[in-house]
Amino acid sequence: MLNTDEIRKEFPILGQKVHGKPLVYLDNAATTQKPQCVIDAISEVYCTINANVHRGVHHLSQVATEAMEQARTKVKEFIGAANRHEIIFTRGTTESINLVASSFGGTFLKSGDEVIISSVEHHSNIVPWQLLRDRIGISLRIIPLTADCRLDIEAYKGLFSERTKLVSVAHVSNVLGITNPVKEIIDIAHSHGVPVLVDGAQSTPHIKVNMQELDADFFAFSGHKVYAPTGIGVLYGKEKWLDAMQPYHGGGEMIKSVHFEKTTFNELPYKFEAGTPDYTGIIALGKALEWVESKGIENIAAHEHELTRYAVEQLRGIEGMRIFGEPDGAAVSFLVGDIHPADLGTILDHLGIAVRTGHHCAQPLMELLGIPGTVRASFAAYNTKEEVDTLIKGIERAVKMFA
Ligand code: PLP
Repeated sequence: MLNTDEIRKEFPILGQKVHGKPLVYLDNAATTQKPQCVIDAISEVYCTINANVHRGVHHLSQVATEAMEQARTKVKEFIGAANRHEIIFTRGTTESINLVASSFGGTFLKSGDEVIISSVEHHSNIVPWQLLRDRIGISLRIIPLTADCRLDIEAYKGLFSERTKLVSVAHVSNVLGITNPVKEIIDIAHSHGVPVLVDGAQSTPHIKVNMQELDADFFAFSGHKVYAPTGIGVLYGKEKWLDAMQPYHGGGEMIKSVHFEKTTFNELPYKFEAGTPDYTGIIALGKALEWVESKGIENIAAHEHELTRYAVEQLRGIEGMRIFGEPDGAAVSFLVGDIHPADLGTILDHLGIAVRTGHHCAQPLMELLGIPGTVRASFAAYNTKEEVDTLIKGIERAVKMFA
């Protein structure tokens, strides 16, 4: 069980008022708020150990390097990876997926090859593959949806061909809050000898993930959705793929030796970490993951599932309510009558309630559902049932205003 009263005290931002009302922050799928220990970790770096990493023989550089590499070990443990050098720091999920599209695509894909993605993908797991399609002539196959907004696994099995080279799917839909059966998806792909990239942006904050159990070939997530700062993220990749892939960015740190005629590349993970890394963000990410572990990810998950279940139950009582799919995670998407999602979002904002409205960077899914967008409420460790009640009252008020 989580003690939300105590947890809330750790998040300075949550104490404020918005438009004169206590802030009810239900936009956690977009980004989570940060606990004081993460905020402190950032200022501590600049106050005590700031120096560029890896290159210096001097004390500060060595301490900063050690702190950054400890954070890599923390990430490795947090996601159950086999090796530290399989953890690559990026700017976030988007950059991690672009890295795979560019480096895996550049190394292994050629014209006529196929990549399978799904109907529920975020734009960041669609557009990188389209860019690759336009660059080298691959094609995309899309896993369709069943009537209840789940991935159609029978149809997925039929998408494989001799030319299938990669499957890239979201672990949890950022719109529907539905967990996809990624273990099954991975096992099916592997039975065809095809590797799988899992977009873990919406699962890592809510589900205990384990790379070795999942057997994912690549796994991407963003720090800012798991209580860490913005601008830092992770790509996990199996050594056998990362070793064989061409580098992504060129520059300092990713090289062994550079001559005008020829350059040789550094070992993993540095081959994929060109330039000065965001070591401050990395150290703070390590702190955020420690914070999650101190509360217990299973406890956080149970708390969020209960909030989602409660929210769905309460929402269903509102006339004209339309919930998309049956969420099992920490987010729920809905529409009420013919109220435009942006109008509902604006009214809720005036009541101090922060929800996300629009297409949620998943326009193809909106097209499939035949809607312009939804209102999405998404939960984190610090949210409460009282906040769900405030949301429900806010929606009821909006419904009356539009009646
Ligand atoms: N994938 C999913 C499922 C997401 O929900 C998001 C962000 O909302 C992303 C990818 C992109 O994450 P970022 O903007 O942190 O790179």
